[in-house]
Amino acid sequence: MPTYYCPDCGGELKYEPATKLYICKACGRVYGFEELKLTRERFLKSVMESEEEKRKRQRREIVKWWLGKKSEEES
Ligand SMILES: [Zn+2]
Repeated sequence: MPTYYCPDCGGELKYEPATKLYICKACGRVYGFEELKLTRERFLKSVMESEEEKRKRQRREIVKWWLGKKSEEES
């Protein structure tokens, strides 16, 4: 079974088979499996989106640099 971490505080989650719930050892928050899965997906998505943002910004910087250089050469 994989170890899950609390999306709230990053603490380790303990699975309770009796209640089928995950309890955070650090902050005591309780998560159902579905809730945990959704939070995890949201988190992964937000990480991927910020990576994409970073790449876009880099591309823009390169284009700006390239255009600046080109106009210098032309003038
Ligand atoms: Zn926690």
